[in-house]
Amino acid sequence: MLYATDETGERIKPYPKERALCPWCKSDMTSVCGDINTWHWRHLTKQNCNYKGETEWHRAWKTLSEKYGCHVEKIIGNGEHIADVVVRDPRQCKGSIIELQHSSITAEEVIDRCEFYLKNRYKTTWLFDFTDKYESGHIEFTELDGTGNPMILNQKWQKRILLSLVSESFYPKFGRIYIDIGKEKIFMIRKVYENGNGWGYFRNKKYIFSKNL
Ligand SMILES: [Zn+2]
Repeated sequence: MLYATDETGERIKPYPKERALCPWCKSDMTSVCGDINTWHWRHLTKQNCNYKGETEWHRAWKTLSEKYGCHVEKIIGNGEHIADVVVRDPRQCKGSIIELQHSSITAEEVIDRCEFYLKNRYKTTWLFDFTDKYESGHIEFTELDGTGNPMILNQKWQKRILLSLVSESFYPKFGRIYIDIGKEKIFMIRKVYENGNGWGYFRNKKYIFSKNL
């Protein structure tokens, strides 16, 4: 978590040897300020908190999103969820949410989260960390027409989640689905077919913060 709260409820960033409160469960948090990872907060003791911890991948994306004027770790509704990133969009009253997903998740959980945020008047775009899948050869990309963009996405295993998410009903009701393969650009999926393969575009990372709807 990049922000904890002080006794007055103010959001505070970590600095060395500091204590603060979890904005979700209100228990004590301690700052983790090392030389390698992004400075962050973690629970002082193991808590039964909805906040399940996060990876350096999450922190790097949150840090980048703040550079583009986004709000991170926003509590939505009555505290049922903390949105990773909220993109402010003047065309909508509230903007849209980007969920950063590193661990595996079912399509049902994704849709439930989207429906919850939609009830609170946010659309939701998802960014999946598929770096491991890409590096282990589970997914690969081939050129469609020699221009380098669009690209064909080939999935070798675990095809179901993308197939069920990138359906006719997901967009434009919710946001887009992107995948991060640990490269300079992220991949915006436009279509997935019955066989699990599909196509889309590689985009600069900042694209997700500005044009994700
Ligand atoms: Zn907590």
